[in-house]
Amino acid sequence: MHVLILGGTTEARRLAESLAAGTPAGLRVTSSLAGRVGAPRLPPGEVRVGGFGGAEGLARWLGEHAVDAVVDATHPFAGTISSNAAAAAAATGVPLLVLRRPGWVPVAGDVWHETGTLEEAAGLLPSLGRRVFLTTGRLGLAAFAALEDLWFLVRSVDAPQAPAPPRMEVLLDRGPFTPEGERELLRRHAVDVVVTKDSGGQATAPKLTAAREAGLPVVVVRRPPVPPGVPIVPDPAAAAAWISARLHRGGTPPDPD
Ligand code: NAP
Repeated sequence: MHVLILGGTTEARRLAESLAAGTPAGLRVTSSLAGRVGAPRLPPGEVRVGGFGGAEGLARWLGEHAVDAVVDATHPFAGTISSNAAAAAAATGVPLLVLRRPGWVPVAGDVWHETGTLEEAAGLLPSLGRRVFLTTGRLGLAAFAALEDLWFLVRSVDAPQAPAPPRMEVLLDRGPFTPEGERELLRRHAVDVVVTKDSGGQATAPKLTAAREAGLPVVVVRRPPVPPGVPIVPDPAAAAAWISARLHRGGTPPDPD
């Protein structure tokens, strides 16, 4: 049985690790990365890098490589590859599972402003603060480029490129982060508003804690919806169980709740 993991996330790597550690006989695993990050943390096992060429290209790849099941473990905001995976699975009949970490939920003391897009987040910012901690990734910076009066601390894994806000300091870093580190960062840069995508997970959540403690507003960009009709699980263990059920029963496993 050949499983394709669409990756680029911690969860995808953990799933590949757990499958490699357990290595059930007869299971072949290939992880796929988009190739966006300069030095990605590679999962164990076979790895391929780069786009497939849209939903049709992915469908072709599944056929050419005799893939029996696909796990879409991409980032919650990687909406294009997720809809391509759903279309390719529908076209080929290859079973698809979405592995997606749950989104964050506000708790008492949080001052969240939820928006649907980065552009909407940029529109809100001037009414919320002057010194922005922007953690939405280097590729979405264009949405904030017109905000000349605001200062930005931009944290990203790789260096951002133009268009970007004219007044910005770049911090190249990759999680996991700690509440202590995030507190210090907000204090040192006198940040008065934070912008984040609803990425979910523990690795980057400490900024939410630090913002809550400091009473700062947080603009939270909501995630795109999961393609309808595709089963979804919240963690690598549940995805491994789905694969294992397919492997042992030789048939389609029941959809998870
Ligand atoms: P996207 O907008 O959904 O995808 C754009 C194109 O990139 C896709 O159409 C596909 O090209 C290619 N692609 C994306 N993920 C791929 C994968 N795992 N393997 C092979 N090709 C892939 O995705 P994105 O937001 O640019 O994210 C790219 C990658 O970075 C994803 O793997 C995601 O898990 C990871 N990531 C994204 C974010 C985020 O905030 N968006 C954060 C952390 C990590 P073709 O159409 O040519 O197949």
